[in-house]
Amino acid sequence: MGSAISRPDDPVLSFLGATGTVTGSRFLLDTEHGRVLVDCGLYQGLKDLRERNWQPFPFDPASIDAVVLTHAHIDHCGSLPILVRDGFTGPIRCSGRTAELAAIVLPDSGHLHEEEAAWANKRGWSKHSPALPLYTEADAVRSLDSLAPVGFGEVVELVPGVRATLHPAGHILGSSVALIEIDGAGAGGGGGGGGDGPVRVVFSGDLGRPHHPLLGPPTSLDQLAPDVVVVESTYGGRHHDDTSALERLAGAISRTAARGGTVVIPAFAVDRTEVLLHHLRLLQRSGAIPDIPIAVDSPMALASLRVYRDAVVDGSPDVRRELLDGPDPFTPDGLVEVRDVDGSKELDRRADPKIIVSASGMATGGRVLHHLARYLPDHRSAIVLVGFQAAGTRGRALAEGARQVKLLGRYVPVRAEVVDLPSFSVHADHDELLGWLGTAPEPPSAVYVVHGEPEGSAALADAVAERFGWTAVVPEYRERVALP
Ligand SMILES: [Zn+2]
Repeated sequence: MGSAISRPDDPVLSFLGATGTVTGSRFLLDTEHGRVLVDCGLYQGLKDLRERNWQPFPFDPASIDAVVLTHAHIDHCGSLPILVRDGFTGPIRCSGRTAELAAIVLPDSGHLHEEEAAWANKRGWSKHSPALPLYTEADAVRSLDSLAPVGFGEVVELVPGVRATLHPAGHILGSSVALIEIDGAGAGGGGGGGGDGPVRVVFSGDLGRPHHPLLGPPTSLDQLAPDVVVVESTYGGRHHDDTSALERLAGAISRTAARGGTVVIPAFAVDRTEVLLHHLRLLQRSGAIPDIPIAVDSPMALASLRVYRDAVVDGSPDVRRELLDGPDPFTPDGLVEVRDVDGSKELDRRADPKIIVSASGMATGGRVLHHLARYLPDHRSAIVLVGFQAAGTRGRALAEGARQVKLLGRYVPVRAEVVDLPSFSVHADHDELLGWLGTAPEPPSAVYVVHGEPEGSAALADAVAERFGWTAVVPEYRERVALP
């Protein structure tokens, strides 16, 4: 903090998050031209990691010239309000849909931090008195002014000598693979002419799957020609089983309805809710699930649903073409959009079978906690987990068969059926990650494997070395590497 800005001769990449974990994505590029931060995410899950959210950044926020944001998930954008509050004044470059979704996600995050602090103060839980929020809704709203959208494929200058181009990543709406080009010494601001070409660094962000039901496949590396790749590894070493995931979802819903129970699905508000609604609609059509009400109980999910609907109507470039002429893919029969708290409480009073889709996706907060407190002890009901559950979250505890979980300050017994469907994920699996890397036209000088739990990252790095013979490294927290 506060140290003089170093301007290295060779660009240096620092790994300031998403090392040994799937959260807290933050990568710093130090160049002779200026400093660029790629993603500024929040840590989630294990307490040791969450505590990093409270530490000052290992750089002066005012010294950053520009941020490139790959997508609007909170583990990639959730610390931007702190960055702006603490002195960053440059632009945050992201796709247009990412800007729209961040405008939903970040104020909500600030609001949750305020609620958490208020709750801790009321119960006297905090070691600090009074407990302060990590940041406020007002901080988050202020940070939105820095969002500066760019179109996919449009080259934008971050500082003279450093340029960014975003391409669809197929993970959530607006999600991007980011190409950063850094001119070499003496190349000046123009690039391209004479001497060595720029260094081309590609950040995968979170990489989608070739068959995301709503979005097109991730942009391949052949047109990006990277010298260095920073790739995620959420599902390194693991393989998705798609057909059985849908069958198991349908089976869980049918069994639960037959028992007279309720299906609670904790879902990330952005994208997972939309993908679920799309699948539920198709399962209804094919008669695979009974006709029971489907409630989306999350103001944030409903707001993001509006952005997805707009994207389909506008024909956004990352939306699957075949969706553009069809009926609204997000409206199964019996869809109930719950916006207010009374409607949310009403869902827990009604005894009839139903499906409740509610945030947060790893059951770390949000309205889903109240539904879990109500339905976890009910042996007729079911909890269906439809995404990656990070270590240290309630979702992970449920997936691993916990007999009770701590919710809203008390322990609740788990008697409901718990169904874990990780392959519903919108992250590429092991083979899909390798397939994407294999589209590079020339061997990159290095592949840095990030955004995974240690086994996942190690499995992907080993496979990259074995299959392609490339240098593949799992960087450590705060490790710095020179770029070629
Ligand atoms: Zn993501």
